[in-house]
Amino acid sequence: MDSTAKKPVRVRFAPSPTGKLHVGGARTAIYNWAFARANNGTFILRIDDTDPTRSTEENTQIILRAMKWLGLDWDEGPDKGGDFGPYKQTDRLDIYKQAAQKLWDEGKAYPCFCTPEKLAADKKAAQERHDPFQGYQRTCRDIDPEEAKRRIEAGEPYTLRIKVPLDRGDVMVHDAVHGDVKFEAKDLDDFIIFRSDGTPTYNFATVVDDAMMGITHVIRGDDHLSNTPRQIMVYEALGAPVPTFAHISMILGPDGKKLSKRHGATSVEEYRDQGYLSDAFVNYLALLGWALDGDTTIIPRDVLASKFSLDHVSKNPATFDFKKLDWIQQQYVQAMSDEDFVFEVLLPELVEAGLEKEAEPEHKKDWYLLLASILKPRTTLTRDVVDKARFLYEGEDVTFDEKSVKKNLAKDYAAGALTAAREALAALGDGDAWKTDAINAALDPLPDAYGLNKRKFYGAVRVAECGNQVSPPLGESLELLGRNLTLARLDKALPLAVVPEV
Ligand code: GLU
Repeated sequence: MDSTAKKPVRVRFAPSPTGKLHVGGARTAIYNWAFARANNGTFILRIDDTDPTRSTEENTQIILRAMKWLGLDWDEGPDKGGDFGPYKQTDRLDIYKQAAQKLWDEGKAYPCFCTPEKLAADKKAAQERHDPFQGYQRTCRDIDPEEAKRRIEAGEPYTLRIKVPLDRGDVMVHDAVHGDVKFEAKDLDDFIIFRSDGTPTYNFATVVDDAMMGITHVIRGDDHLSNTPRQIMVYEALGAPVPTFAHISMILGPDGKKLSKRHGATSVEEYRDQGYLSDAFVNYLALLGWALDGDTTIIPRDVLASKFSLDHVSKNPATFDFKKLDWIQQQYVQAMSDEDFVFEVLLPELVEAGLEKEAEPEHKKDWYLLLASILKPRTTLTRDVVDKARFLYEGEDVTFDEKSVKKNLAKDYAAGALTAAREALAALGDGDAWKTDAINAALDPLPDAYGLNKRKFYGAVRVAECGNQVSPPLGESLELLGRNLTLARLDKALPLAVVPEV
């Protein structure tokens, strides 16, 4: 094989199921996914659930659902399988044990019998004598293997520590985002790879997995940069090639502090439930720390999946900008065809809200298309459509907004306006005669004919029909309501059209 040939890209997203999928995690997942796709590589999803006290199966399911909603399809992982499984760390304990045993057998790891009290005392002493080396004092590094064996057989608790070569020197992390980052040898101690309870530590399990799964690029949050020199020690002990690291910056809230609940929604699910489109949300998150060029803001998924590169990832923290997210969302909503809007936004939301049944919508398709044409320009979040369309589903008894009634119906001119509108509209036929243009044409001459102010006239009719002074265009709304309901609502509103006595 040509020695200059590049290894096929294999990347992984490895969330710990200790909570929901956070926007920071989602962005890490997006970058891994996009990097894999842009390089014809493989995207692996691995569940890092080695912390049994904080990991739950429920969270795992929530994360998988969020990944699916984001549209980040993985090539190997839970639900999918692959040649390097299992893809859940708790199912890989034997693999970690074997890897640790091998290092132990090769003299690259050793058992440590120090109690927590002894470790604390050693640390305190190192601090007091201002020892430049403050880590584990390598107390058990040179215990005779026979003695160690005896103590283990006698039931003494022990951890397993990696034996960092004394002449290892400083560790340089070549990071694709941060450049070369040097970690000093004095900060590298013989750290624990297996705890006394028989579970592996994160720094060990992760490297065993990444090495065995052939991961070529580790793209993750920069809170893990400080773990990287230790992980490099594990790669070296295992004799495995060190992957390329890319540590991506934190996401901050608008006040410059780490993004948290205080700033607003932090989990992917909350954004989904609020009514963001997955495409818009992925586009927005991708831009938090990455740029296609200087100024392109709308980057569809397929462009992301072909153009993403690590050299355009910024090492500076990114600030979550809720306004920009909404702006991008609007661009995606407005770019949808009315038909897509019907099937991807309108119907799912109306069904979810219980306004529509999941019945075949085909017979009402024109009706939905008309509704889409007036709601789409007024939609940011998909669930906005529910409140805006509700008046169409209330039969003769529309819910009146009190303020709107007071301002538009409880007026001395209102009865005249409603009566005139009723007469003109009743003159229109049903069916094909009941169309927006005809409705508008019937209403248009009325203010002048009856000497009514236009705004007042339409305000009264609008509130009578829609219950609220803020509603979509009237002609279309009445077409959607249909002739019978339109007339019935005018009748029902008439009694409200009186000036309250003072
Ligand atoms: N499981 C780790 C986390 O959720 C990620 C580990 C890694 O990417 O190396 O933070």
